[in-house]
Amino acid sequence: MFLENNKHVLFHELYPSTLCCECTKRSLAAEQKKCRLTELQFDLLFETDRGQEVQGHKRTQNDQIKQLCLCGVSAKRKTTVDMMDITLLSAVVKSCCPPGSISGNPTWIKDIKRTRNFIAHSPCNKITESEFNQRYSLIEKSVLNIASVVGPVFLKLTKAQISSFKDSELSTILEADLQKKEQRQFTAGKQIKGFPMVQNRKFKLRQRHVPISRA
Ligand SMILES: [Zn+2]
Ligand SMILES: [Zn+2]
Repeated sequence: MFLENNKHVLFHELYPSTLCCECTKRSLAAEQKKCRLTELQFDLLFETDRGQEVQGHKRTQNDQIKQLCLCGVSAKRKTTVDMMDITLLSAVVKSCCPPGSISGNPTWIKDIKRTRNFIAHSPCNKITESEFNQRYSLIEKSVLNIASVVGPVFLKLTKAQISSFKDSELSTILEADLQKKEQRQFTAGKQIKGFPMVQNRKFKLRQRHVPISRA
């Protein structure tokens, strides 16, 4: 329901400057607006049935699209938060939940996203223990803050997940992550395009140099 209610907003995160048929009621397209979603991300959330487009809604002028039709777009029923990565989740929250409209602090998601990007774009597959500890405690705090906003049961569940994460071997975590990713891609009907190999050697999370893996 959330996605369906916000489809017009999210549509213009993919097509920021082109009007759509819904814009006659509330215009969301703007010349200077930047694209926040890629087609791939949008397609994970919505399906587009061109057959449902209303004649006359899509307009072109001199081969240039002047207006798009939103009528064929609908939220995918099977999409869950679990299927979104932090980049997509952050973009959706930023677009659909203006500051003050929901509880919590936008910085919490930003911290998680920044940490994810730091790890994913790290030139070598290692970080020092002090860097690890500093970043780990920051995102642990952010995750717990978000969980506490959701509610006490979720907070308890999250705390349990974090401690099981801390007690696990890295290879176990990577395997579980791989399984989750496969499941997600299976649900999304996409082929798995390769995933970093799970290393055979077992690493403790608290090892001096913590190996990191691009996901
Ligand atoms: Zn529109
Ligand atoms: Zn339309």
